[in-house]
Amino acid sequence: MSSVALILKEERLDKESLVELLNSKQTDLILNKAAQIKAKYIGNKVHLRGLIELSNRCNKNCYYCGIRAANKNVKRFMLSDEEVDRAIRFAVANNLGSIVIQSGELQSEEFTEGISHVLQRIEHIGEGTLGVTLSCGEQTKEVYQQWKDAGAIRYLLRIEASGKNLYQKLHPNNSKHSYEKRLQALHDLKQCGYQTGTGVMIGAPFQTLENLADDLLFMRDLDIDMCGMGPYIEHVDTLFYQYHESLPSKKQRLDWTLKMIAILRIMMKDINIASTTAMQSLVNGGREMALHAGANVLMPNITPGIYRELYSLYENKPGINEEASDSKLSIENIVQRAGGKVAYNEQGNSRHFTKRN
Ligand code: SF4
Repeated sequence: MSSVALILKEERLDKESLVELLNSKQTDLILNKAAQIKAKYIGNKVHLRGLIELSNRCNKNCYYCGIRAANKNVKRFMLSDEEVDRAIRFAVANNLGSIVIQSGELQSEEFTEGISHVLQRIEHIGEGTLGVTLSCGEQTKEVYQQWKDAGAIRYLLRIEASGKNLYQKLHPNNSKHSYEKRLQALHDLKQCGYQTGTGVMIGAPFQTLENLADDLLFMRDLDIDMCGMGPYIEHVDTLFYQYHESLPSKKQRLDWTLKMIAILRIMMKDINIASTTAMQSLVNGGREMALHAGANVLMPNITPGIYRELYSLYENKPGINEEASDSKLSIENIVQRAGGKVAYNEQGNSRHFTKRN
């Protein structure tokens, strides 16, 4: 039995073994093990979250992100109430079951109240049936609690790099981009009672396989309920674009991302794992591959089409020229090709969270 097969058989998932798995050429062995675990603990249902990109305004300047505050080449937008209502109605009419509200990171009373207002609209239009995930960055615990009380049940806050050294290489060195604040925010979310999710970029400049192994252990130790992680994809209007010629190949980033998803599924059997849009940007069919590797959540983009291009976190983002209905159709095809079944009208809450509570 190969060393990788033995690690998988024993589910020996210490740091050294994780690095060996990530480095291994036996990707199929790892993916097959994850598929067995997914079938046993999750089944073949794929839950949907209609993704509403509410605003590309952001106060931060993460080195890898196309909508960072200092990028003057982006036209900024905030969806109007009517546009948000239209997207919510679309989610209801198409039985998506859940909505994700994503935006750049703003901290202001106006923003806090704006999100609370959106949550009330979702509650009203969806008649209380829709599950709501927020992904609106770091906020105070009071703000997280206010949004929880207004109806949000899940929150995704990606750590991007779980080690402080790498985190500081990915972000400017100032108080707005504090590693400690990021960690605190994740703990605050858990304390507020959210299904809490995090994730990382894979294949970013300066990142090593040891970093990725640490990221997996971090997610396990934080006892997350859900995860959204995907390959690093360069954007021309970022500081990190200077490294685009020395990045790992797309094939390599794809392989590492699939293995990260699969290993996380083996480590955390009943959490929700998203098949991210970035997978599709990296390679055609990327989202199917992520579902095969252990992911169980897809996020059709239901943002009004005219704004898609402006929410450009990275290059080659799919669905930019599609209206919401096209995206939904493509999501159905993806799920079918991956051998899954779309779970309509279900919130698809994290089993891990439900069991823990
Ligand atoms: S990654 Fe998030 S917080 Fe950082 S610049 Fe982009 S939108 Fe803002």
